[in-house]
Amino acid sequence: MGYGVHTAWVRIRRGIGIVSLLALSMSLGACTAGEPVSALISPSPAIDRSVSATPSSLPSTPRPTPTTVAPTATAVPTRVVPTQAPVPVPTTGHTPTASEFARIQPNELGEIPILEYHLITNQEDRWSRSWENFRGDLERLYALRYRTVRLQDVIDDRIDVPAGFSPVVLTFDDSSPGQFTFIDQDGTLVPDPHSAVGVLEAFYHEHPDFGRHATFFVLPAADPPHNLFGQNEYQAQKLQYLVAHGMDIGNHTYWHQNLSTVGDEEVRRQIGQAAQVITSMVPGYDVDLFALPEGAWPAHRELAIRGTWHGVTYSNRAIVLVGAQPAPSPDRVDFNPLALPRIQATSDQLDLWLTTLARVPGRRYVSDGDPDRLTFPAILADKHKKRPGERQLASFSPDYEVFQLR
Ligand SMILES: [Zn+2]
Repeated sequence: MGYGVHTAWVRIRRGIGIVSLLALSMSLGACTAGEPVSALISPSPAIDRSVSATPSSLPSTPRPTPTTVAPTATAVPTRVVPTQAPVPVPTTGHTPTASEFARIQPNELGEIPILEYHLITNQEDRWSRSWENFRGDLERLYALRYRTVRLQDVIDDRIDVPAGFSPVVLTFDDSSPGQFTFIDQDGTLVPDPHSAVGVLEAFYHEHPDFGRHATFFVLPAADPPHNLFGQNEYQAQKLQYLVAHGMDIGNHTYWHQNLSTVGDEEVRRQIGQAAQVITSMVPGYDVDLFALPEGAWPAHRELAIRGTWHGVTYSNRAIVLVGAQPAPSPDRVDFNPLALPRIQATSDQLDLWLTTLARVPGRRYVSDGDPDRLTFPAILADKHKKRPGERQLASFSPDYEVFQLR
């Protein structure tokens, strides 16, 4: 523990210098649906390495005004949060009954929070969540009937949480030590209980039904300690630990390169070489989740999705953005796995969005309990993107539509 704890100013990029995390200028609410991300941000200026890492010595970075995406309502009957655990809907050969719908109020065209954490430290700051507050976030999500799912499950439309519950995706950017530090416990390496992985593991052991799925968007060659969580001797072991414990590794470029400021060949190298390093440490693992540094697209956007560098071919199935709202259900017409919005995991943004999803009718994704079945309020039918092979099932309730996906 200890490094990166006392400051929000973090050196990430090797060879160029210091990048203020405040230059992650896709801050609160700046990313609105449909707007090109690259138009909303300014590249952070390159700084000479000799400049000391104090806030006063850093150039001022243009920052967007922190606005928020205005929560909007859709006309669906208000969901009453049940005070006791719902009765699970049988999943095999069974179309839910009207009373089951009434109890659970499934809405699988609702929205899914993809939370975005940066530093996890012992104090709260704009780009830092304290580990106590992170633990509190997990408790709050659990009480609000969220359960963790993999990002891959969202893009593959295989969300598997119990009836009446909602999916949440946890993501962590920039591979800082506070996210994952190993400590030696009687000769065995275990996650520091004050690091994100340690907090998540402890919570999972108390609440196994919460799951412990999370995606870590890592930097293989950033300046220490952002080079795969610091502790150089354990880099490969940490990546292997994550995968072995149901967590995932995403690509965040080789050293946090803002891709809007470099040419095609460097874009390919930044993504291809990062994927190559991760795969060399976790053989056979598919590196196909990508987070744009600073939310910035390259000039040729298709190079963020796929490309080849020195014989290494990369292909990203999901690309996550920096801001600033929940993601649509994978069965909605506006779902785009290659531009998934996230919610900054600050107290303000968590309050705003968890409250909005709880209170605004029609917005929260609520599962019907069967990942192969799609159930949603009929009033949302115009938002439904039909997939090849899915078929409509007879419904016992005129207020809902039900489809068999697979
Ligand atoms: Zn980042």
